[in-house]
Amino acid sequence: MDEDRKAIDKTGEELAAELIRGDRRALARALTRVEHGGRESAALLAHCRAHVESQRQNEGKRALRLGLTGSPGAGKSTLLEALTRQLRAQNKTVAVLAIDPSSPLSGGAVLGDRIRMREMAADAGVFIRSMATRGHLGGLAAAAEDALMVMEAAGWDLLLIETTGVGQGEVEIARCADVVAVVLAPGMGDGVQAMKAGVLEIADVLVLNKADLVGIEDLEQDITSMEMLNEAVSGRPPRLVHRTVAARGEGVEALLSTLLETAQSGNNSGRRNPEARSAPVLDHLGIAVRSIEQAEGFYQLLGMTNLGRETVVGERVRVAMFAAGESRMELLEATDDEATIARFIARRGEGLHHVALRVPELDKVVDRLRSRGIRMVRDEIQIGAGGHRYVFIHPASAHGVLLELVEKA
Ligand code: ZN
Repeated sequence: MDEDRKAIDKTGEELAAELIRGDRRALARALTRVEHGGRESAALLAHCRAHVESQRQNEGKRALRLGLTGSPGAGKSTLLEALTRQLRAQNKTVAVLAIDPSSPLSGGAVLGDRIRMREMAADAGVFIRSMATRGHLGGLAAAAEDALMVMEAAGWDLLLIETTGVGQGEVEIARCADVVAVVLAPGMGDGVQAMKAGVLEIADVLVLNKADLVGIEDLEQDITSMEMLNEAVSGRPPRLVHRTVAARGEGVEALLSTLLETAQSGNNSGRRNPEARSAPVLDHLGIAVRSIEQAEGFYQLLGMTNLGRETVVGERVRVAMFAAGESRMELLEATDDEATIARFIARRGEGLHHVALRVPELDKVVDRLRSRGIRMVRDEIQIGAGGHRYVFIHPASAHGVLLELVEKA
């Protein structure tokens, strides 16, 4: 606590100057401060950022960020250690940021069981820091980004980010990395299928660790099939696959070369520029109701905010939007008995009418779907009240769901 108190007493400028000079204790204190966030960390971050920007621009020096994620049991920590050893053998200094959103602990405590990591931390060329939650996952991603900025200001050559591969927060954090490796291993339940949705998507490189185990051929076969299917559906070229036995250091040097090359090339699926990502996100759920006035009371009871109402003349529908986190709920009421929504309610009653996904380039997606024989409700892309563009995919082509695709504004 005394340490923290002193850290807070120091100005951001003082603390930044100390960590830039290479003071490890100052770095540790600075990381505690940015993890807490808020006003206390703003000045510190501003000084670190200014230093990092000037290094990048004037000296072309930039700390590459390698992200490592995967389910527990894949040997991710062992691989992280092996990569760190390899980097040390190449005389590079390494700072590790281990993220554990599920743990209430922070500041190194979650590393307690990692004996080898602690041994490595005795090396002056290695710095290890674990980070738990700043309250919520969105906050954690922001805290991780800040922590990496501080570590780069402190002059470390390579930044390794380890996440546990458990969900959406991981995906956000991975966006901080220049390259992301997802670690898999044979014999992990349903293997590829068991990975949380979205986690495999963020990989630039797929690592098949524990490659000396029975089942490695099946795992690689699963991965290859998945990559071929992805290429057919989304046009994304297959990703690089590496086999490793991290515990014996096998395949680690080759993997490291690939990671460094990919990180340097900036050819990393566009994760650093979220607008360029092609994966759809849930935009809203459309719900057919008899009366918006009557239905909206229910959503207000749930504490949801009404984002406004409009009438879409072309669709003969009145719409009320409610905020639901990053997505929305759309209540739809027919303006007359011949409207699509009126006929839907006459046939099936009130209920879920459609699911809407938001995509970056609607024309491209629609062309791709058409070329695969996917049916649209109408041939042309429609233009909605706010000027946004959308299409509906016929339920016959979308496995029973009326699927709306809307274009990112
Ligand atoms: Zn809609």
